[in-house]
Amino acid sequence: MRDLFGRDIDYMRISITDRCNLRCKYCMPDDLPLIKHDDVLRYEETLRICRAAVKSGIKNIKVTGGEPLARKGCVGFLRDLKSIPGIEHVTLTTNGILLAPYIDKMNEIGLDGVNISLDTLNPDKYRQLTGGGDFFAVWASLTKAVEAGLRVKVNCVAIIGQNDDEIADIAKLAEQMPVDVRFIEFMPTGVDTGFEGLPGDDILSRVREVYPDLSGDPTRRGFGPARYFKSEKMRGSIGLIDAIGDCFCPGCNRVRLTSEGFLKLCLFHEDGLDLREMLRAGANDGEIEAAFKAAVTHKPERHAFAGSGHGIKNMSRIGG
Ligand code: SAM
Ligand code: SF4
Repeated sequence: MRDLFGRDIDYMRISITDRCNLRCKYCMPDDLPLIKHDDVLRYEETLRICRAAVKSGIKNIKVTGGEPLARKGCVGFLRDLKSIPGIEHVTLTTNGILLAPYIDKMNEIGLDGVNISLDTLNPDKYRQLTGGGDFFAVWASLTKAVEAGLRVKVNCVAIIGQNDDEIADIAKLAEQMPVDVRFIEFMPTGVDTGFEGLPGDDILSRVREVYPDLSGDPTRRGFGPARYFKSEKMRGSIGLIDAIGDCFCPGCNRVRLTSEGFLKLCLFHEDGLDLREMLRAGANDGEIEAAFKAAVTHKPERHAFAGSGHGIKNMSRIGG
């Protein structure tokens, strides 16, 4: 469906939990209170919302978190999503730690792709950045997912002084394996890390140092804001998600459902709709669908990072 600015909104990210088995420094501050279990949407509730969302034009769903695989029943939920008529793609974003044992099952249910977050190839640095994570567990999941033929994207947040010296090495994964490597500009969420993101243009020039023939790949258009680039040498592509350097709001196609059931219309706006309240107050499917449609129509025109002082501090509830 189209919003007031003519954008076709067909993609919804769903955070199924605010819990995570890692503590990435830029994502989960230590003092972030966890949501009470009863306040997290039950899978049946989320599926009801998804059915209403599909009737409102949503075709593609990304399941995220917190760490989605840390919630029991995640793979069954992915299967149930896949069986909703009208949904074209269901994908998962994960830190990869718990992924390996589920890969065969994911292929069996026809999952359309998995995004694995990996900010460094250095096991010590990985442990430090993620609050104790085991790089080798992620690597095992990544290689197994690729071997199993799952469509894999590697997501890397580029941060000055943390992993900016590894951009070229991480980009080389797209040559070594048939994966897309997507660099994400660090977004200022209000979490006090002292981190500064590497701007998108600098990311690209570091990749170009090793792949001078890197050029825009207009044939690649995902369901989101990434711009894609390719070198002759690569089996996959390089993606760049530069929310700050290159405002992609005019082409934004997404809304988000938080783990508490709040429909968030823009990552950096409070605007939205409390669907959990509606569901638990006894709203019927038609009412949910109508409210969903009305809310999406009013998606804000653009985000407000710069100078807004608008912190969200809870990326793990929203799902990135
Ligand atoms: N736990 C899963 C994972 O790490 O992939 C899913 C949830 S995580 C919130 C989703 C994505 O958001 C990750 O790729 C993470 O790197 C990204 N992210 C978190 N905080 C961010 C920030 N401040 N700027 C840019 N990306 C961020
Ligand atoms: Fe957890 Fe993902 Fe946030 Fe890291 S980025 S703390 S893995 S939710």
